[in-house]
Parts: sequence; C-alpha cells; structure tokens
Amino acid sequence: MYNNEIDPDAGHHPHVFKRAESDSGLQAKGCCLQTVKYVSLTEKIEKRIASNDRWYSLEFFPPRTPSGAANLIGCFDRMAVGQPLFCDITWHPAGDPASNKETSSMMIANTMLNYCGIDTMLHLTCYGAKKEHMLEYLYKAKEFGIRSLLALRGDPPVGEEWDPKKSDFRYGVDLVKFIRQHFGDYFVICVAGYPQGHPDSTSYEDDLGYLKEKVDCGADFIITQLFFKPETFIKFESDCRAIGITCPIIPGIFPIQGYASLRNIVRLAKLDVPKEILACIEPIKENDEAIRNFGVQTCLDLCSALLDTGKVHGLHFYTLNREFATIEVLKKLGLWLEDHPLRALPWKKTSNSHTRSKENVRPIFWSIRPKSYVHRTSNWNEFPNGRWGLSSAPSFGMLTDYHLFYMKIDATRDELLDEWGRELTCEEDVWRMFACYIGGEKNTSNKVVRHFPWTDEELSLETTLIQNNLIEFNRRGILTINSQPAVNGKPSSDPIVGWGTSNGYVYQKAYLEFFTSADNIPALRAVLKNFPSVNYHFVNKSGESNETNTVDEQPIAVTWGVFTGREIVQPTVVDPVSFMIWKDEAFSLWTERWGKLYEPESRSHAIIEQIANTYFLVNLVDNDYVEGSCLWTILDSMFEYQKVSKKDGNI
Ligand SMILES: Cc1cc2nc3c(=O)[nH]c(=O)nc-3n(C[C@H](O)[C@H](O)[C@H](O)COP(=O)(O)OP(=O)(O)OC[C@H]3O[C@@H](n4cnc5c(N)ncnc54)[C@H](O)[C@@H]3O)c2cc1C
Repeated sequence: MYNNEIDPDAGHHPHVFKRAESDSGLQAKGCCLQTVKYVSLTEKIEKRIASNDRWYSLEFFPPRTPSGAANLIGCFDRMAVGQPLFCDITWHPAGDPASNKETSSMMIANTMLNYCGIDTMLHLTCYGAKKEHMLEYLYKAKEFGIRSLLALRGDPPVGEEWDPKKSDFRYGVDLVKFIRQHFGDYFVICVAGYPQGHPDSTSYEDDLGYLKEKVDCGADFIITQLFFKPETFIKFESDCRAIGITCPIIPGIFPIQGYASLRNIVRLAKLDVPKEILACIEPIKENDEAIRNFGVQTCLDLCSALLDTGKVHGLHFYTLNREFATIEVLKKLGLWLEDHPLRALPWKKTSNSHTRSKENVRPIFWSIRPKSYVHRTSNWNEFPNGRWGLSSAPSFGMLTDYHLFYMKIDATRDELLDEWGRELTCEEDVWRMFACYIGGEKNTSNKVVRHFPWTDEELSLETTLIQNNLIEFNRRGILTINSQPAVNGKPSSDPIVGWGTSNGYVYQKAYLEFFTSADNIPALRAVLKNFPSVNYHFVNKSGESNETNTVDEQPIAVTWGVFTGREIVQPTVVDPVSFMIWKDEAFSLWTERWGKLYEPESRSHAIIEQIANTYFLVNLVDNDYVEGSCLWTILDSMFEYQKVSKKDGNI
C-alpha cells in the first residue's frame, strides 16, 4: 500500500489472472500504475528494518452491535489516512468470530481488507477448537484474500480451568504448525510474546523457550503483550536474541485512555500496573481528560525511549477501538503520515486484496462509491487492466441489504434529518440541499450539510475547480452526483488533479452526471444537437427511456495519463453498458438513504419518491478537452431554450 513496497518490475507481468494465488500487489503511495508483486507483511517489515524507516500498526476488536460495526468501519477509514503498515482484528470464540455476521472477526477483517484497503491481519485462537473447524476458518480467511494471521492459543472462558482435552490444539505452537502443514507459506504468521513471561508459564525462561519453538515452527514475527516500562521490552528483546530468536519483535503499546479500561485490560492480561503510574492516576481517576493527557504523555515517553534504542522500528498499538490517544501519540512521534504526495490512480483504491493487483480501469460512475464497486465486482476472477474493453454484459453483483450495511453513512438518522431537512415542502428544498452539500454551506436550519446519499467519500479536490458552476446549477435543479473538469496535460504531480508517477502528464475530459426533472430532457435533447463534441446518456429509473449517442455502446476514456516509459494509462471510462447497472444503484439511493428517513405517508417521503420515480439520470462527456468544457453552456442553453419555448407556447 505504501511507498516502500513497490516492485521495480511493475507492469511486466503477463495478462493472466488466477484467484488469490496470482501475482499480486498493493497500492503504492502514488507510484504504482500497474502490477506490483505481492509483498508479504514480513517482507514489508524487513524492508523497513533494512531502510531504518519507522512504522506502526493498529489493533482493533470486533464490535458487539451492527451499529458499532458501522462506526468501526468509519474509524478504519479515518485511521487508514495515517498510513499504518497493517491493522489487525482480535478473535473471541464466544463472539461467533468466524460467522457471516457483520460483527464477526472474520467479516470485520474482510471489510478492513476489501472495503477499507488496509493490509489486514486476523487473529485466530485455537483453544477449544477442532481441527476441521480450524481448517474451515483458514479457508474462509484465504477466500477473503487475508494473507496474515496472528496465531494464538487463547484462553478458556472466564471461570473455567485450561483443559487441553477440550481442544485439538494444546498451545499456540500447534496452530502455527497446523497452518504451515496445510497452507505452506501462503499465510504470514505472527505469534504473541510476553515481556514479563506468560502468566501461566512455569518460568520466564521456559516461556522464552516456547516462544522460540513457535518461531522455529514457522512464525514470521512476534508482537508482544503490553508493558509499561521500556526496560521491560529492552530486556525481553535481548533475552530473545540471546536464545537465537532472530525474527522481528514488535512491542505492543497501550495508550492509557481511561481508568476503567486500564483496570480491565491489566486484569485480563494478568499484569501489574507499576506503582508510579498508579500514583499519578489514582488522584485523577474521575477526570477523563486528565487521564487521557497523562496516557498520551506516558505513551509518548515509552515509544520515544523504545525508538531511541535503535532496535525498535515498528510499534503496535492496542487502540481499544478509540482514535484520539493513538493518533495524538503517532502525530507527536511523527509517524502519522497524512500526506499522500501523489494519488496512484484518479479513483481511490479501497481494496488491498491481492486479486485486484492488476486492476487499473473502472467506470467513472462508482468513483463516488468505491466500496460498492469493490463489492459488486468481488466475484470477478479478472480485473480490467490497461483497457476496459467492450463490456456487453459485465456481471456486477447485486447490492444486498447486507452489503449496503457496510456502506452505511456514518451518521445517525437524526443528524441526517438535520442536514437533509426534517420536512420537505417542495422539490426545490431537495435542490438546495445538493447546493449546500457541494458548497459546504449551512442549510436553512443552520446545519452544515456534510453527508450525501450518493457517497461516503469527501468531495474530491478537483470539485473546487468547478464548485461555483456546480452550486449554481444545483440550485436550478441539475442535481449533480459526479463531475470532473477538463484537464489538458497538467503535470502528474499537480496537487489537485495529478496522479500516477512523477514526471508525467494527466488529461481528462469534462464530465457531469446529474439527476434532473423529465421536463428538462426535451430541451436538453434539442440543445445537444448543437454540440457535436459531447456524448450523452439519459435514462429514467425503469430504463424504458434510455438514449445515448455513444457509438455501438463503446466505452469512452475520460481520464488518461502519459508517463515515462509506459503505454498510455486510462483509468476511468464512461461505459454505457455499466451505466445501466449503475443507474439502478443511483436511483435506489434516493429511497434507501433519503426517503427512508421519513414516515411513509409524509409529504417529505412523497417528494423523494416523486423525484426517484420521475427524474432522469444524465451523463455528459465533452470530448473536446483541449477547448475546456462546454457543459455549462449546454445547461445554460437548455434553460434558455425552455424559456423561449414556454414564451412561444411550445412547452
Ligand atoms: C499480541 C497479542 C494478541 C492477542 N490476541 C488475542 C485474541 O485475539 N483473542 C484472544 O482470545 N486472546 C488474545 N491474546 C491473549 C492470548 O490468547 C493469551 O495470552 C493466551 O493465554 C496465550 O496465547 P499464546 O498463543 O500466546 O500462548 P502459548 O504460546 O500457547 O503459551 C501459553 C502458555 O503455555 C506455555 N507453553 C507454550 N508452549 C508450551 C509447550 N510446548 N509445553 C508446555 N508449555 C507451553 C507458555 O509458557 C504459556 O504459559 C493475545 C495476546 C497477545 C500478546
């Protein structure tokens, strides 16, 4: 996913796709245009060690409720901005961790990898497990594209004694062996280490010996239990090296975020909190903010001391699913890397699954809903690379309610009503909401409209280049959901429209996609006759009215780049066949996301339904990118045409 992992052979792999086992790769930070070879987590960590680069990873646990899961996915998206090397998700046998529930460890890991684009490690515990079940879990993880596992013994449920007869596995090492036996090197395997010795161990030395056994049997690296003092880790690391453990050892870092959570975690881990920390915390235990500040400072001191040893390159944070303290510490350490100097492609890659390594072309429509695109194409064995080609019947998957869940807006119904209007009185109320969203303005209830039914993404930077036109036309009922300005050879390093490798040039055609009243369509049709450089496509919800002037349903490249030593890269197309699939999704969002907020009998509900049932979805491409864009002129002419026609009594 990041800068250091680019394979210099990128782009030289044959056009062959196999599921999961294929050559694959991760999205490089603005540098990977085509194929990159799969780089395992172990290789990434080793590269960081060799180059003396620092990095971090983040641990999360599965949420209890579906709404908790929706929030957690939002948290992943926000945390991914800081570029963790990987994130991991814990495994709790009591929580049905391998099921298809939206709260299970397996499904959260799937979402993290495939819908949030984060390199993902799944924990697996084997206490109480049967071999055949473990095999099923492993195959399922493999099917989802997961390549990294943290193999653990786990613990018996609270109140029960550890009983080896209850399980086909005795220790963590048995799981390591089992995975290697059945899957060879397919998975990267991490194991747990205990800087103060495991609480059940006969001695610290014995425990170290068992840790070595886990590594000797195939573990690639170690993450440690949390600890409070740097000396604890420093001693542990050197003891591990002394007995011949050579793999990377990553310290587990726990930022103290509250009194109760500290108590809870040390109870579970059977650790003692050092007296000096307790002495600071006890007097402020009722003051959450003071504890958080103290937690950030002690964590910062611990991390700095570890990094200063020169032996630690990566830090593994136990986030407890909270963002504040971890981000604060990472920012202060200079490890939070928010800057993405260059986008790799004009659309955001939200999947880090290796099967998609070669994908570099998508229809522009889903650029506003990348998670949905990933879902709808998740069964494809091959992904378009270089060209979209003629797609007479692209097999997009259905959007089930279940998957719509993963694309749920990160806001409550109440917040959305505040933003989109508690009571709609006319269609113009809807038009104003669109204009407010694009302008980042407050609505009539004095609320900033931050959410939008058609996207969970932020407005792209290039929208600012055409924002005033967009606002003006939205106020007039051209309800835009996607757009891009024309670009004629800007440097690929341009901070607003640039993408790809440096020293290249990028191009794009002006594009506009909007809903508009059926009343506007005859005027638009008439006006378009005067603009031969424009391709158009109008369609209503049912698809019965469907008009386009594209030739033989050919896709139109709307973004392309010219880079040193490469063929032209054309990552976005307007494909009339896919547009018909997209339109069902786009129309359904009126009802699914907006109409559903209101009582079925209400006027507000009726207005949204009326729009969904009668408006058209339109896309326009101005192919003359050298001249800029005539799309605004077309819309102006359309309104003018209507005015004149009304005066003449033709409409
Ligand atoms: C980084 C990290 C992540 C974790 N994530 C989870 C999670 O997601 N879900 C969860 O439920 N728990 C998790 N835990 C807790 C973990 O499951 C418990 O600490 C568990 O008790 C030990 O698991 P293990 O695989 O480390 O133990 P093991 O390596 O199996 O060791 C367990 C005990 O057995 C001893 N031992 C090991 N091998 C032998 C042997 N061959 N002969 C005799 N004795 C042996 C060890 O000394 C130790 O005392 C995590 C812990 C850590 C540090």
